[in-house]
Amino acid sequence: MSDKPETVVLPDSPDAAQLKTVTGWVSRHGLFYGKDEIQARYDGCTHVKCSECGVVVEKGYTACEECREKFRIVREADRKREEWDQETPLYSEAYSEYLMDFDEVEDYLDQHECTFEHLDAVLCEKNEARIELDHFGHLLGDDYDDAPKELTDAIDAFNKAMSGIAISWSATDVVATCKELQPEDLRVRGMPRAK
Ligand SMILES: [Zn+2]
Repeated sequence: MSDKPETVVLPDSPDAAQLKTVTGWVSRHGLFYGKDEIQARYDGCTHVKCSECGVVVEKGYTACEECREKFRIVREADRKREEWDQETPLYSEAYSEYLMDFDEVEDYLDQHECTFEHLDAVLCEKNEARIELDHFGHLLGDDYDDAPKELTDAIDAFNKAMSGIAISWSATDVVATCKELQPEDLRVRGMPRAK
């Protein structure tokens, strides 16, 4: 405790508060933004200019539809592609659907009358079950070196037993290609497509 006597300020004291005139930016919706002119203007606007070509677009987008499509094509072309081994599960970005094996993919294409290309399929990767000593950190305290050997042995045995076993799958960013499911005669423009 400090020896300095605490100052007492009652609510009716002039020191408690003063009436001041405050200047700041107020948006068209009546929201006060203080010095933040940019945010106030953004709140009050209905449209913005495309960051690429300057065309006026609805607020919420940063680029016009044409430029967004241009960006999408560039992004798509930059993605890594890999021929599917026909065993690794796939994730269809177009249909938001996991497809676990070749038969399931074939059935799906039949049902939706689309080609493999239309799935926008990416390869999945395994999620393995693994335990780290950290998992018991709250019980072990700071010094993991004192962890009982039985615990570290059990963790090693668990990790060894689960190694290579998929307990679930996650989509990666690698686009899957599949020559077998892309017969020339099916590559027709205007096929039904999700989205
Ligand atoms: Zn544009």
